[in-house]
Amino acid sequence: MDKDDLIVVTGGGGFIGGHLVADLLRQGHTRIRAVDIKPGDDWHQVFPEAENLQLDLREKAACYQAVRGARFIFNLAADMGGMGFIETHKADCMLSVLIDTNALLAARDCGAERFLYASSACVYAAEKQDSPDVLPLKESDAYPAMPEDGYGWQKLFSERMCRHFSEDYGLATRVARYHNVYGPHGSFDGGREKAPAAICRKVIVALMRGEREIEIWGDGEQTRTFTYIDDCVAGTRALMASDVAEPINIGSDELVSINQLVDIVERIAGVRLQRRFNLDAPTGVRGRSSDNTMIKEKLGWAPSIPLVEGMQKTYRWIHDQLHHR
Ligand code: NAD
Repeated sequence: MDKDDLIVVTGGGGFIGGHLVADLLRQGHTRIRAVDIKPGDDWHQVFPEAENLQLDLREKAACYQAVRGARFIFNLAADMGGMGFIETHKADCMLSVLIDTNALLAARDCGAERFLYASSACVYAAEKQDSPDVLPLKESDAYPAMPEDGYGWQKLFSERMCRHFSEDYGLATRVARYHNVYGPHGSFDGGREKAPAAICRKVIVALMRGEREIEIWGDGEQTRTFTYIDDCVAGTRALMASDVAEPINIGSDELVSINQLVDIVERIAGVRLQRRFNLDAPTGVRGRSSDNTMIKEKLGWAPSIPLVEGMQKTYRWIHDQLHHR
């Protein structure tokens, strides 16, 4: 990417989009267009150096307006959130297919050179994730398909659209399968937050209120890997610059249970709390980790920021947000 190429980031008001725009600006890129449906006040990060547009990208005309003149497009916009959101908003999640379809059409028609799609580990087949002792998921494990209902099907469908836009129309596409990305400047309450931010918030709020107990969704023995935002952004930029056309994991392989994640947060906070396990809460699959063989082979790199390090920064940021409300 040349420094004066027009680069579009959809979902630029979101968590990953905001960090990506920040990083591109830091790298010296001078023409960044960030697009999001939310009004500017609700963006996680706003950079006046970028062109910031409020558009509903489910609309075809809005997509053409968003990508006109762009050489590189990072398509991150999606109606999504943590398990609490995606398990109760399946149709909303699936409607993000309108964003992806119209963004791909606009990218093709406006002559964009490359289109990166933000897919998800939720495309992986459920049967390969039913035990906490996981075998890390390699890219081919998405098929035969039985992804997360709603959100995962939408992501898998849009992945296939990228492939066929590439094969049939010659639009170069890149597909990142993100695994649980976390860090500062993201949702930590309101219903769209994910486990790392939610656990930080619960511990901080318990401390603020002098409570001794927090609620954990499920029995806490479900396992995951969590990818710090700086690794996510670095992987995203490297993927865009690469010639890797097939979907690829961008995820940490440092596996922890939710209980171990709570242990980490408690150590950061210097507190031990009682855990009330809510077995009726949405928890998603039983276990999931990223197999990083392909990313190491193709990009010569893989996420490596330790969970403890990333969680310290995340905890500090959420702590400051909650204390300055
Ligand atoms: P986010 O919700 O913070 O960002 C998504 C942004 O898209 C939001 O700001 C939202 O307002 C915007 N958006 C939604 N509908 C829109 C529309 N119709 N038009 C324009 N903008 C719209 O989420 P995020 O964590 O930054 O995720 C970015 C992308 O990465 C998403 O596609 C998501 O599915 C994918 N992803 C994220 C994770 C993760 O752990 N954060 C994991 C896997 C995949």
